[in-house]
Order: sequence, then C-alpha cells, then structure tokens
Amino acid sequence: MIYFDNAATTKVFPEVLDKIKTWSQDYYANPNSIHSDGQRSRIAVEESRRYIASFLGIPEDEIIFTSCATESNNTIVRGLAESYPERDEILISPIEHKSVLNPVRYLSKKGYRIRFLKVDSQGIIDLDDLKKSITPKTLFVSVIHVNNETGVVQDLEGISKICKEKDVFFFSDTVQSFCKIDINSDSVDFFSASGHKINAPKGIGFFRRKKDIQLTPLLFGGGQEFGLRSGTENVVYIKALSETIKIWNENRTDFIKKLQDLSGKFINGLKTIIPDVEIVSEKVERSPSIVTVIFPKIDAQTFIMALNTEGIAVSSGSACSSGTPSPSHVLLSYGYSEEKALRAVRFSFGIDNTEEEIDILLEKVRDVFGKLSVFY
Ligand code: PLP
Repeated sequence: MIYFDNAATTKVFPEVLDKIKTWSQDYYANPNSIHSDGQRSRIAVEESRRYIASFLGIPEDEIIFTSCATESNNTIVRGLAESYPERDEILISPIEHKSVLNPVRYLSKKGYRIRFLKVDSQGIIDLDDLKKSITPKTLFVSVIHVNNETGVVQDLEGISKICKEKDVFFFSDTVQSFCKIDINSDSVDFFSASGHKINAPKGIGFFRRKKDIQLTPLLFGGGQEFGLRSGTENVVYIKALSETIKIWNENRTDFIKKLQDLSGKFINGLKTIIPDVEIVSEKVERSPSIVTVIFPKIDAQTFIMALNTEGIAVSSGSACSSGTPSPSHVLLSYGYSEEKALRAVRFSFGIDNTEEEIDILLEKVRDVFGKLSVFY
C-alpha cells in the first residue's frame, strides 16, 4: 500500500522507533519513586517537558502530558466547566473534531448553552459573529486551528484578540497544526497536541494550560502532572514525543517544503486529469499536508474502496458506523449538500511520501475515476 492517510495517523520515525526498546530498559522505573532508578525516569520526563516548553516558548509547568488528544480535549472542556460554573455558555466552531464537539454536547445536556459560530463557504470563522456572540456568561471559545477533514487554517491571533478583549478563555485543538504551522503560544490559553499525528507513537499527547487558569482534572489519583492528570507517567513515550518534536524542529523548513511540494504536485496533476474536481477550502490558507477533493459524480466510499484495491490508502470525513455513510458535519457546515459532502475524499501527505508516489497516486486516481465514471 502507498499511504496517503497521514491526517489519521503517521508512521513512527525510524530513529525514534529504534530507541524505544533501549528507553524501555533504561527508564522502566516509576518516575514518582525516590530511588535513583526512579529519579532517572523523573529526569527523562522533566527534560522532555523542558524541551517541548522551550520549543513552544512557554513555562515548563504549562505542559501537561496525557494519553492522547481526546483525553486532553475532554479535560479542557469538562475541566473548565467544573471550575467556572457561574459561566454556562460555550462558543465553538461547527468544524471541531468530535473529541471537542462531544464533550461540549455532553455539557449541553447538563444545561449549558452552546452556540455554534458561523463559518463561510471556505470554512473560515466569521470574526464579527464571534465578537457579537460573546456575552458575560461565555466560559470559553473553541476553534480548531487546522481542521482534520479539510486542512483549513484559522486565524488564531484574530480570534485571540477578541477573546482577550472580552475576557473569555480561548482553546484551540492544534492536533493537525502542531509542528507544521506556527502557533503563537501567547494567543491561546489552552491547546492540545497528539504524538501519533507527528510521527511519534500512539498513546501520548499533551495540552497547554496557562498557569493562572483553574482546571478541574478528569482523573483523580496520585496527583501527577501538577494535579491535572493523575496516573503514572508514560516515560518512554514522553521521551519519544520530545525526540520526535526535536526532529521536526531541526528539519522544519525542509519538512514543510516537502509537504507543500507533494500536495502542490498532487493538486496540479489532479486538475489536469479531472478538470472539474473541487478542492475544499481552496481559496484560503490550508495545511500543507491535507487536500480534500470533491470528485464529480462518484461517492467517496466507492472511490476509496476502488483506490484501496489499487494499493492506495486514503480516507473521507464521513462516518460509517451503521453501514450507511453519513455526511461529515464539517462539510455540511461549509454549506455543501449531503450528496456533495458524501463525495469528499481526503488525501493527506506525510514526510515519508515521495514525488514518485504522487505520480503513482495520480495514475491510479485517473484509472479509478475513468472506470467508475461509466457507472454514473
Ligand atoms: N483533534 C483532531 C483535530 C484530530 O485530528 C484528532 C485525531 O483524529 C484528535 C483530535 C484526536 O486525537 P487522538 O487520536 O490523539 O485522541
């Protein structure tokens, strides 16, 4: 298979994978134990935290390690609600990932008022609508930095300015942008990242919490991670995460250029083969690694299965839990019809993809489109 589903997950960098076994032997001890083996693990955790904090330009004690971004996002949403019960209104974008959307829906069942911000046909948040929607009861605003289905990039600085003026907390899910697009840490009170989206293992993530903001933890126990995430730290994966971030940091310009070249080559080639394809969010800034395409006529599930048969792995944003795909909430909020939303296929590139693989991809897309078109 040639893998173009890097927004779903990435392969672990070989140089990180190679070290995991040694780290598992060197840092097996519990970092909360006071003996020297335990302290060796503690140093590994704190050195990793220090590296990530310096990469982001924030204090070390604002980095909270978790198991994944779903856990981070739930902790932030539910933790804020518990800490500031006098504010019972939440503003979120309609294009949030489900790990934000569903804890917010849970709060709405508990009586919170949820207001979805307007987005335009390119998926960009309407800042005037945001400004008008904030009230003294608003607890936080949540806007995803790079949407996982379409790659659209939001103006975090602009949103942050409004939130600061109106004195509400600002949270951004930065899972798809972390390491790939600059995040001005000053502008966001809370943000989350996940190892497996940046070539670290699954099962490790972190979030940033500005120090002075109260947050009630999801888990109560030993009080690890400044009391915000009890449970013995995953020392080896915390090390793997910081090592992976270091690789991104040291190669950032080359990696980003590579992703831009790969996605640019794909888009140009695709438009030559099938001139009437639509690239979602084409007119605005998008992540260099995500290209979502609405093909004429053919539904995404059929297209993806046919590409799979040809050895190409891609995805769509539609959920398919019941056998019948339902259109993505993200594309519907752009204003796409259900029928059109069900034709969206996501191609997401990773830094181990090559130009030659893009040539093969284009060839396979042309063949599959040609074959399937005759049935529509
Ligand atoms: N947020 C975004 C934007 C994502 O793309 C994902 C992963 O699909 C998540 C959150 C959840 O991440 P994790 O798998 O680490 O829980």
